[in-house]
Amino acid sequence: ELLLTDFLDRAVTVYGTKEAIIDQDGYAHTYNEVYKRVQQLSHGLSSLGVEKGDRVAYLAPNTLEMYEGFYGVFQTGGIMVSLNTRLKPEDYRFILDHSGSKVLFVDYELVPLIEPIVEQLDTVEHIIVHGEEEDKNGMPGYENWLASFPDSDFPRADVKENDTATLLYTSGTTGNPKGVMLTHRNNYLHALSIQHHLRVSDQDKLIHILPMFHVNGWGSPFYYTANGATQIMQKKVIPEEILEKAHKHNATVMHMAPTVLNGLISKYHETKPETPDNMRLVIAGSAPPKAFVKEIEEEIGWEFYQVYGMTESSPLSTASYISTEEEYEGDDYYAAKAKAGLEVIGTKVRVVDEEGEEVAKDGKEVGEVIVKGPGVMKGYWKNEEETNRTLRNGWLYTGDMGTVDGYGRIAITDRKKDIIISGGENISSIEVESVFYDHDEIQEAAVIALPHEKWGETPHAIIVRKEGSELSEDEIISFSREKLAHFKCPTAVTFLEELPKTASGKIQKVKLRNLAVEES
Ligand code: ATP
Ligand code: MG
Repeated sequence: ELLLTDFLDRAVTVYGTKEAIIDQDGYAHTYNEVYKRVQQLSHGLSSLGVEKGDRVAYLAPNTLEMYEGFYGVFQTGGIMVSLNTRLKPEDYRFILDHSGSKVLFVDYELVPLIEPIVEQLDTVEHIIVHGEEEDKNGMPGYENWLASFPDSDFPRADVKENDTATLLYTSGTTGNPKGVMLTHRNNYLHALSIQHHLRVSDQDKLIHILPMFHVNGWGSPFYYTANGATQIMQKKVIPEEILEKAHKHNATVMHMAPTVLNGLISKYHETKPETPDNMRLVIAGSAPPKAFVKEIEEEIGWEFYQVYGMTESSPLSTASYISTEEEYEGDDYYAAKAKAGLEVIGTKVRVVDEEGEEVAKDGKEVGEVIVKGPGVMKGYWKNEEETNRTLRNGWLYTGDMGTVDGYGRIAITDRKKDIIISGGENISSIEVESVFYDHDEIQEAAVIALPHEKWGETPHAIIVRKEGSELSEDEIISFSREKLAHFKCPTAVTFLEELPKTASGKIQKVKLRNLAVEES
């Protein structure tokens, strides 16, 4: 059986006295020490009545307590439910009730987020507060609670590899968040594949910038642990702090959201350290411009990968590693790196048309991206309809549109729900948006489809101007006409102060569509 608890067991056997975690306050803990806390946690959970199959929820940023939660819960056979720290109290109530969570751990800084709903929860029996020693408002403080349990080896529950290990909710970019069931086997094989592509070793020091509660940061506590690497906990995304910490602890790897990478690079140029750093690899999801990749690799000297994936696939399906000699040549190299990339080991990725036939491998014909592999979820929790829509004939239908080139390289062009179909032509909203991002006075842009009598749909731009800018609708439309084919250009513009976003920073186009339809 492939069980996630194997990863920490291996680290303890091989690397017991090595630094496992540098916690959020800068203190180092060896694998042996962390293992003991994990035993205490499992004993504690068991004393609260947690048994195999029970859901245990976490509302925490990247901390030691969050990390030990993974292994502490798995030892009891429990299912870890992790909550995004930037949701609203009502969202927490929805997820906690929907998942039927029995215990909730919450970081002391986040207690105010759940206080308004505590009385209304259907299934949560215990709430324990991380980062506190004493009880607070009737909720036990984690440290004293943990210390009251033995650190002797916890008798493991009888878990099978196809049992659900984790229940992660999607970002809710296109609708309500869905609970994704990933098994031990899903997470395990995904970890083995990704560690290979990232070349993870015991020499690595990962600075955890991506939140572990979100699927993007989720897998790393598995493959960095299995390889005895050191993991540095970073609670907040503050570029200066991250760079300083990374330098101080000689970090070698970071994974992050592309918007964060942006901020980090500009700070890097401002505060460039005098001594060279040990950073060897930087990973981000979503497409950066070619010039950006070049800057990271040539000027700063960090290797860059783009990765593509979704909660439903554990998450990674592709990475932009280089496959052939031809691709090393000149500009082709950076173009290749700026795509979502090649399928990862063990996973198959195809691009298909409406009939399910593969599109031409010319890097031009667009189709839906489908994925098959050990990382693909068991299904959505309590949502058979959506499961059947998404998992068909053994393939995961991602709802993302893309192209594939002669090397097998995938590029994501848009979400299926966001494509604009005007006069029978497909327009990628992302392509049009990227033109606006080149304009000096535009802060943010989103392009959506508006219903149109003659064309079916027409592109509509929602623009956030930079402070002080007086850019007009006409100026914006003519700017796009200089850069794009006419049919792709927006016919109208709405100005907003900011764009509605999900907790993970993705623009919620459903909300924008409703707003624009109301206005027109
Ligand atoms: P919901 O499913 O609730 O609407 P979501 O799809 O945003 O939310 P996630 O699972 O967090 O939830 O995100 C996965 C999605 O992120 C992918 O389906 C894809 O649209 C987008 N994405 C991930 N990686 C990339 C990438 N490299 N390039 C472009 N888009 C990407
Ligand atoms: Mg999704």
